[in-house]
Amino acid sequence: MTDKVILIVLDGLAYKTAEECMGFIKSLSEQGLATLYKVQCELPSMSRPLYETILTGVAPAKSGIVHNQVVRNSNQKSVFSLASEAGLSTAAAAFHWFSELYNESPYSPVRDRHTADTEKLIQYGTFYHDGNYPDSHLYLDAELLRRRHDPDFLLVHPMSVDEAGHRSGLDSSHYRNTARRSDKELSEYLPTWIEAGYQIMITADHGMNTDKSHGGSLAEERDIPLYVIGDRFSHQAGCAPKQTEICGVICELLEIFDHSKAVTENLLLNVEREQFEPKMVMSV
Ligand SMILES: [Zn+2]
Repeated sequence: MTDKVILIVLDGLAYKTAEECMGFIKSLSEQGLATLYKVQCELPSMSRPLYETILTGVAPAKSGIVHNQVVRNSNQKSVFSLASEAGLSTAAAAFHWFSELYNESPYSPVRDRHTADTEKLIQYGTFYHDGNYPDSHLYLDAELLRRRHDPDFLLVHPMSVDEAGHRSGLDSSHYRNTARRSDKELSEYLPTWIEAGYQIMITADHGMNTDKSHGGSLAEERDIPLYVIGDRFSHQAGCAPKQTEICGVICELLEIFDHSKAVTENLLLNVEREQFEPKMVMSV
């Protein structure tokens, strides 16, 4: 068991598609290693606003990151800033909008694509700026960051499912097959990460509609998966996680306790720190 956390955000992956097309992750559920929850994303169901929601626990209307063209630093406390304050290390293999939200804005490819700077909120980053960047490369970027820097918190953010949805729509073999390929990519890495004892959360920013877009409040745009893997989770069926609670849950996993973020009740095992202290009075 480790306190290290890996967050995987599969861009644009609708709940139903995840449930039906991702056989490897489902096999982890059937083996008792993963639990799937349905989460409703905040609105608008768009990427940059919801990257901010996932990493800060703040809904778009409150964060001010209300559409994709709001190009500025986040002004909220985030997993990255709270981890930094706690002396933890952070890394991300992700679309360049994450670099703009938490490192420098606007993104400069030559300066920012490969980041290694312990003064930055995302200390080690490999960022891409082409939506067609292959997931296979993205996962390699993430695994290299993990092996090279051993971060306490690693964000992994592939884009291919969202791209397929924009080209072919929710109800298309292209979209579904891209989700299946994404599942196969995960099967390359998850066994190693599980074996190493990481606490892992796999979710999406938003879903997808049949008009090849997203942004509104249709169930297929809002309903997204949240898979949790690791021995710090309760794996209880009765939990109802909100997207705004993911940030707080990650902080708890990282043992940052003064984060003031919302946390999903019962999603984590309730392990009091006092339990680890030796008992002074033995009962007989
Ligand atoms: Zn999109």
